[in-house]
Parts: sequence; structure tokens; C-alpha cells
Amino acid sequence: MIVTRFAPSPNGPLHLGHAYAATVAHDLARGRGGSFRLRIEDIDGARSRSELVDEFLADMRWLGLDWDGEVAFQSARLESYAAAGERLKAMGLLYPCRCTRAEIAEAATATGPDGPVYPGTCRGRNVDPDGAAWRLDVAAAVALAGVLEWTDELAGTQCAAPEIFGDVVLLRKDLPASYHLAVTLDDAADGISLVTRGSDLFAASHIHRLLQALLDLPVPVWHHHGLLVEADGRKLAKRRGSPTLADRRQSGEDGKALTEALRAHRFPAGISLAEGLHSEPWHTY
Ligand code: GLU
Repeated sequence: MIVTRFAPSPNGPLHLGHAYAATVAHDLARGRGGSFRLRIEDIDGARSRSELVDEFLADMRWLGLDWDGEVAFQSARLESYAAAGERLKAMGLLYPCRCTRAEIAEAATATGPDGPVYPGTCRGRNVDPDGAAWRLDVAAAVALAGVLEWTDELAGTQCAAPEIFGDVVLLRKDLPASYHLAVTLDDAADGISLVTRGSDLFAASHIHRLLQALLDLPVPVWHHHGLLVEADGRKLAKRRGSPTLADRRQSGEDGKALTEALRAHRFPAGISLAEGLHSEPWHTY
């Protein structure tokens, strides 16, 4: 059975772009008799706001998008991330790094999907691991995993190219996880067979596919949908003044009618659906 998910981070209120993403994931599951899961990605302590979670659930109900089972919370799964981190360390694939963002920007000679590519400064160095971040030695990991492929329903089969990110952080200095590690483990734990998300995360799937191979996790199919963008082509974002779903809900707007409009690709003036934004830098960790 197909299982999709919507996995918002409670770093700010949901907006129309989230409503579109949730509708796509919900409809892909329901249209094929499958299951739709909701996961709250709340491990970013500095930015995560727990009071937003109730708003998210109210937004989903208002949109008429019902999910199956319990809501999953990443904050409840830190032990499983730490255990996977230990496993990768025992395989000799992680190394500690204390470089600052500024040092990396200064030393980088290439730009990847998330910005400056970490140039491997601490690889092979004797760095004090206490309080350090842990990076994946991508070359060693690829040598171990071999050639990998993954399939996006829309874009077709891809040859995994995790090296475009450089040695990504898998364990942050403040957290026994990072986005890449947590999301990969969670999609496996939640039985997600069709990873449905925006095309801004297309490239991230190269890393996730590698992690699946290293950690013996099942390999899903992906569906990276287009993003709602403003007239200047930039992704919708709260800071740029798009009304939030909570604002719309509280003003008495009909949420189910909004979902229907999104399904029909009827968007508010100045907003359109952009396909193929595969490399917009987005994640900060
Ligand atoms: N938590 C991420 C977000 O808020 C989505 C991660 C994913 O779908 O892989 O956009």
C-alpha cells in the first residue's frame, strides 16, 4: 500500500505553499487507496515553536486533509537518530568538525545545493570530538555503498550523486541528528513508500538514498512536486508577506474550498506553480 506524508517544521506558520504540499501528498495517497501520515519536524530547538503544532493540526482539519494514525514528532525520536549516528561512526564514516559557517564560506571552492560546499577541512585531522559536529565522509560512504539509483515519479530514475553536497553534517553539535539523517530514518520508521515533498528538496534525495544504503533502510519512490512561487519567481514565504493559513482560517475563509482551488491549480493573483526548481538552496543544516 502506498504511504505518503506531509512533514512541516514548526519554525513559522503554514502558508499557501504548505497547503499545496499537504494537498498533493494527501491526494496521492487517497487517489491510490493509500495512507497519508503527518509528521512534525520539531528538532531544530532554536527555531522550533511548540505552540505552532496545534495551529498546524487546526490548519489541516480546516483544509479537510485527514491524516492516518498518530501524528509523529521528531523530538520523540532523538535516540533512534543517535543510534544511527553511532552505527555510522562505528563504520568509520563520520568525522568530527569544528569549522564555523564563516570558515567554510571562506575555504569553499564550490557551491552545492545548500550553498558553499564544505571542503573537507577536518577530514583525517585529529579534531576534539567533544561538542563537535559529525560529518559524513561522502567519498568513503560512496565507495562502500557503490552505484545507487533512486526514482522520482515525475523526473524518472536518477543516479545518486551525494557528492554534490560535500561532506554533510549528520550529527549537529547541538543535536544527535541533522535534517538529512532524521528525515531518512523517519521515512523508514513511518513506512513511507512515496516520499512526497517540494522540488526544492530534490537534490537532498541523493544524500537520503546514500543513507538508506548505509543503514539498510527500505528505498521508497519520491515525488517532488512543483512549488508555489510569487510573481518574481521566488518561493512563497511568510517573511515576504503571504497570508498564513491560520489568518485565512480565522478570517472565516472556507478551507475546503481553498483545497479544491489548489487541486484545480487555481491560485491567487500573482502566485503560480513552478516546476523544476531543483537546486534552490533551502536548508540551513
Ligand atoms: N520539514 C521540512 C519542511 O518543513 C520538509 C522535509 C521533507 O519533506 O523532507 O519543509
